[in-house]
Amino acid sequence: MIEFKNVSLVYPNGHEGLKNIDLTINRGEFVVIVGMSGAGKSTLIRSINRMVTPTSGELIVDNEDILKLKERNLRKLRTNVGMIFQSYNIVKRISVLRNVLAGRLGHTGTLRSLLGMFPQSDLKLAMSNLERVGIEEKAYIRASNLSGGQQQRVSIARALTQQPKVILADEPVASLDPPTSHKVMKDLKRVSKEDGLTTIVNLHFIDMAMEYADRIIGLRNGELVFDGPIEEVTELT
Ligand code: ADP
Ligand code: ADP
Repeated sequence: MIEFKNVSLVYPNGHEGLKNIDLTINRGEFVVIVGMSGAGKSTLIRSINRMVTPTSGELIVDNEDILKLKERNLRKLRTNVGMIFQSYNIVKRISVLRNVLAGRLGHTGTLRSLLGMFPQSDLKLAMSNLERVGIEEKAYIRASNLSGGQQQRVSIARALTQQPKVILADEPVASLDPPTSHKVMKDLKRVSKEDGLTTIVNLHFIDMAMEYADRIIGLRNGELVFDGPIEEVTELT
């Protein structure tokens, strides 16, 4: 599903964000990337939807080398790849449902979405995804009235409503307290598996990674230093 072939990324200031990454992630895997702050986790994840662009190598997503895509041709990729951020990135002054419907923008076309019109099927899909993350009763309230955990559930529902093949989650629980973090990770894993999505999550706590990952990838200074199932993780330390 996703294949990094000797991928490197040098930032304009000369800093090497990723160094010669070789990595294959299979369809349906739930992969967690661990590493200290500055290890390159964000850079790696953001390469997969071209929020950042590696400077060499090949990066295959769904049978296409996305490093060859021109900036103007990124819409299909971004629709295929849902993104979840630490800071939720939801629009607080509009309703929860409108936030979730934003997941359809890549499908619906700009004019219709500018007019705020979505097909009935999109509404049904958005509502069912809110239900899957347990906040359907919040659909019509302003997103600003939600707790952090609820806001992150909105962003999960939005990503699902996009009907992507891949979900990238960049430190999705770093702003949440431990009990809420676990609930959100559980929900994320469950819905990913239900939809057969390939999911890549950055976390900076190894114990959390061990609990949810099918497979763990370790990064240090932009280099891949570990790749394996959780049973082998003792080698990491
Ligand atoms: P992590 O997500 O593991 O904390 P990042 O991928 O955010 O790591 O960053 C990896 C390294 O690249 C860090 O040293 C960071 O300071 C550096 N970096 C990130 N973005 C840029 C940028 N735009 N320009 C230069 N260096 C950057
Ligand atoms: P986070 O990893 O949570 O996004 P950071 O503070 O690492 O937070 O990065 C915030 C923004 O600054 C990101 O867009 C990142 O690419 C950029 N950035 C990080 N480190 C550097 C750096 N050394 N030089 C330039 N930009 C950077």
